[in-house]
Amino acid sequence: MSDTKKMVIGWFSFTCCEDSTILLTELLNDHLDEWKKVVEFRYMRAIKTKNSIEGLDVAFIEGAISSDSQAKEVQKIRENTKYVIAIGSCACTGMPSASRNLFSNEALIQEKIQWYMSNFDYSQKVKKLEEVIKVDDKVMGCPMDANTFLEILQKYLAIFKVT
Ligand code: SF4
Repeated sequence: MSDTKKMVIGWFSFTCCEDSTILLTELLNDHLDEWKKVVEFRYMRAIKTKNSIEGLDVAFIEGAISSDSQAKEVQKIRENTKYVIAIGSCACTGMPSASRNLFSNEALIQEKIQWYMSNFDYSQKVKKLEEVIKVDDKVMGCPMDANTFLEILQKYLAIFKVT
């Protein structure tokens, strides 16, 4: 086993289309060999079946928060990580996942979403990540801007002195 220090990361998806996860897997095509030397992927369901949220250095979180159970889940992630990075517009601003927050016409709400609200685990409003937990950095874009993500990754590798 290598004794080289690595930055321990998790990658999480909440209410969203997961396009930033797809973009990340594309980036892995080019960067996996380089990143494996400095990053431990402790939670990343897109590429692993055994995952843990314990003892993370950085949690990358995409998607908006649309239910109380998601809020509890993301709070648990926050308790288990030193830093949280919001990934993509849905996590950073809520939109477009929070579009239903803008419905003001009661008839439209009844017609379009009330059945879903009554039958599934949804909160009244969809929230951006920083309405639920502390966020340390953001990667904007829909999906995330890849260059900003690479810059943020380098920033945190430097913080953890593993570059
Ligand atoms: S920000 Fe865009 S790409 Fe990312 S999850 Fe939301 S809708 Fe999908």
